[in-house]
Amino acid sequence: MKSAILKHATRLPSAMSLPLMRLNKSAKRIYGNDYWVHRNFLQQMQGGYDASDDLFNSVNRALSVIPYYRQRYGRTRIRSIEQFEETFGFIDKDTILGNYDAFIDPDADLSEYDQGTTGGTSGKPLRLIAPKRRYVIEMATMHSLWGRVGYDFSPRAVIRNHKLGKNRTFEVNPITREVIFDGFRLEADYFEQVYDAIRRLDLRFIHCYPSTAFEFSTFLIERGYDTSFIKAFLSGSENIFDYQVDLIQKRLGIRFFNWYGHSEKLILAGYCAYTNLYHIEPTYGYFELIDEKGLTIREPGKVGEMVGTSFHNPGMVLIRYRTGDFAEYAGDYCPLCKRRVILLKNIKGRWSGDKLFNADGTYITTTALNLHSDLYSVINGMQYLQDRKGEVKILIVKSPQYKDEHEKGLYRHFRQKFKADTQIKIEYVDRLKRLQNGKFVHIISNVKE
Ligand SMILES: [Zn+2]
Repeated sequence: MKSAILKHATRLPSAMSLPLMRLNKSAKRIYGNDYWVHRNFLQQMQGGYDASDDLFNSVNRALSVIPYYRQRYGRTRIRSIEQFEETFGFIDKDTILGNYDAFIDPDADLSEYDQGTTGGTSGKPLRLIAPKRRYVIEMATMHSLWGRVGYDFSPRAVIRNHKLGKNRTFEVNPITREVIFDGFRLEADYFEQVYDAIRRLDLRFIHCYPSTAFEFSTFLIERGYDTSFIKAFLSGSENIFDYQVDLIQKRLGIRFFNWYGHSEKLILAGYCAYTNLYHIEPTYGYFELIDEKGLTIREPGKVGEMVGTSFHNPGMVLIRYRTGDFAEYAGDYCPLCKRRVILLKNIKGRWSGDKLFNADGTYITTTALNLHSDLYSVINGMQYLQDRKGEVKILIVKSPQYKDEHEKGLYRHFRQKFKADTQIKIEYVDRLKRLQNGKFVHIISNVKE
């Protein structure tokens, strides 16, 4: 019920919904007592949390009720992390696609669950179920992450995947306290209206994709507008690039607060209150970073794949699920915020479609294509398109400082990175391309590996 109300509260005209939003100040009243209990729990566990018991409870229950695990591991009882790591193999999206029914608890009351599919830019969509009451965990954990940069359930601007009618600048959800803007009109005259509205309504937090934060910040810098009232961009679901951090935090001086989450909802990590290191939320799911051999990484500097295990989805328990997303291990204690949690940096999501191919099938990743900052500072956006191996088109949005010599520099840079027979073409555009769901990806590729 509640989740339905939360979704459909934007139908009122803003003359009614704005005053309603101002009246509604209590997250506890809106999201209920369980939300409040969970937030308090998170608050108490800030310093650190031993998730072993949650893990053992979740996997031992799965061993007795989820067919997939019962058939494979039978009567095993997990009592230690070592035993957990030795016992369970990894699963991934294909495992679930091939055994969907076996992952569902046959006794689960499906009327208590929402069904969904994960988007993904390629391949088959994955079906998932999640408890209807899951929003309690989601909201409480997300709000506690955002709380690190001062978010206090005050109204916030949302510029994500909503499409609004032509003549509407925004609509208001008085319940979730969101002022929702159109995520598909990211151009100067609409940004003008967005800025005007967030200033007038004193919206101090802007919830959007990182690429949108970057585009909006570029606009704000170009116009020289006052941004002192904006406290932070709250953004997730895309890879972060140095040039974005550089422009938003260093040049504009707005906190660019990012988090990592994924549709299977096993892992959640947000930036530290003080740095751009991700902190894994230990109460949300069980996290592992694994190397190519499947061993758990516990050494700073090593890169591995992010693997998660469900804590909050009894109807569909996933154990040691490989996300396809990668990150660098950065320790297990943060001296700045004093939390004993796993720290990560350089998270690279599978959503990037990360590779560009030469004609002979060898490839280069976007990380390897990183530009020097003198080139980044003269462009307002960049994107790679590839339809065929051996042909790469690079879309560039110029800044007013962009000159011919920069084009030469870019060609020089890319020619060095790709094989000599790869055709490279720079094309200038006003706006970069987005996927149908409004998300930005760095590479749009139609090449099959
Ligand atoms: Zn920290």
